[in-house]
Amino acid sequence: MATRSAATPPPSEADKLIAHHARALKAPRIADEYRRLAEHGRSADWTLEDYLAAVLAVETNARAESGARLRIKGAGFPAIKTVTDFDFTAQPGIDRAQIARLEGGGWLAEARNVVLLGPPGTGKTHLATALGIAAAHAGHRVAFASATGWITRLAQAHQLGRLDSELKKISRIGLIVIDEVGYIPFDTDAANLFFQLVSSRYEKSSIILTSNLPFARWGDVFGEATIASAMIDRIVHHADVLALKGTSYRIKHTAIESLPSVTADREAESTT
Ligand code: ADP
Ligand code: MG
Repeated sequence: MATRSAATPPPSEADKLIAHHARALKAPRIADEYRRLAEHGRSADWTLEDYLAAVLAVETNARAESGARLRIKGAGFPAIKTVTDFDFTAQPGIDRAQIARLEGGGWLAEARNVVLLGPPGTGKTHLATALGIAAAHAGHRVAFASATGWITRLAQAHQLGRLDSELKKISRIGLIVIDEVGYIPFDTDAANLFFQLVSSRYEKSSIILTSNLPFARWGDVFGEATIASAMIDRIVHHADVLALKGTSYRIKHTAIESLPSVTADREAESTT
């Protein structure tokens, strides 16, 4: 337990009132920070309005941060990934400026989508997660699951006769990430559920979708070319479609590290 040192003056009436109001407002950071900010404000010649703004900002910033933390935790990402961790030199076809724009999150307000296509290991889940985390920071609710995960959730709701309410509930989430479309083909029921998921969000809320298959092969996944093309239509109508290329980043880098001469070349490169 911290004890009040002899040098600290006893709390004034104002201190007591501030502590009381901060508690009543459930704004504990105001109580933590107002003295420090007052000292700073006096020496920096702040107006009373400047001071009030600074005190309120402490609380709103902390709330935004803890809100983002909760949204990220609730989203179910498989790992934490950021755009900063993404090695763009491994994906020369990906436009950094476009990713930076997407990181800004403006596309979510327009209910646009992002589609990441490419072979396994090329960073689709990485970028989908990074953009999802950026969206959570920007204040959007996010939910991440594999295509199979989303289908399972909808199939369970369907069985219980509450598919519509489940779709409605999901549509209130500003961004859903549907990872790994194409790894497992869908039967007719699953394809229908998936179609309903996509349709229910069309022009209302955003999707990030990843697939190892080009659109031309989606007919194989959904068992029927017409369902696939109706779905692709709705997804790409307002979307950024990004094609990742090449071999698996992990395999490539494991291979490079096990080759001393190549590693030396890379080190030489990175110092220039
Ligand atoms: P995909 O979803 O396309 O199969 P992942 O995004 O899961 O691939 O990538 C596999 C692993 O390699 C992950 O750990 C990911 O962070 C990493 N990775 C892939 N591409 C890159 C990249 N360009 N820069 C940094 N890490 C990458
Ligand atoms: Mg993946």
